[in-house]
Amino acid sequence: MHFLCRCGNRIYDTTDYISYKAYILSDQDCFDYTDEIERYVADKALDADACMNHIMHIDVEYMWRKIYQCSQCGRIFIEDKSGGLHSFAPEGTEDKRLLRSVKAEDWRGFLHGEWDEVRECWSEHQGYLSADTNDEKFPGWQDFDSWKDLEREYYALFEKLRQAGRIRSASLKRGREWVHKWSIDEENNIKSF
Ligand SMILES: [Zn+2]
Repeated sequence: MHFLCRCGNRIYDTTDYISYKAYILSDQDCFDYTDEIERYVADKALDADACMNHIMHIDVEYMWRKIYQCSQCGRIFIEDKSGGLHSFAPEGTEDKRLLRSVKAEDWRGFLHGEWDEVRECWSEHQGYLSADTNDEKFPGWQDFDSWKDLEREYYALFEKLRQAGRIRSASLKRGREWVHKWSIDEENNIKSF
């Protein structure tokens, strides 16, 4: 889903790990929420998967509501129980990244590169590199018109981001072929193929 902010910025909610989205829980629900978790955890009839399913259900469906912040103007949007959005404008120059991870720059994001053998008609370039992190020292998006340049920059950036602890996964795709895949879980067994 996506919606338009009054400032003209379109706000998208179509992926996971969104830096301008969070969940809120009413203070009136806090103890009921932890009580429900305790009840499921203590239920010996539930295995670990069933327990997790119940907990995720109360998290997402029952009590948590979504909140978004426009990264252009800082407006806050809070979802009501019916899914409607209520917006609140900032009074001054408030932080426009209030909803990002509590880990700030230390949050581990993603690096992804992609190259099309034939330039798509809707695209001005054949390839791109996208680094989704909270650390502004690193470039976020780069376009490429040469596979060699894209490949070189991918591996250079990958090493820097990995050593700085800024990514949890990375992947490079050429056409339909995965050229490189890595994740933090495979840190000691890097897959290159
Ligand atoms: Zn806005």
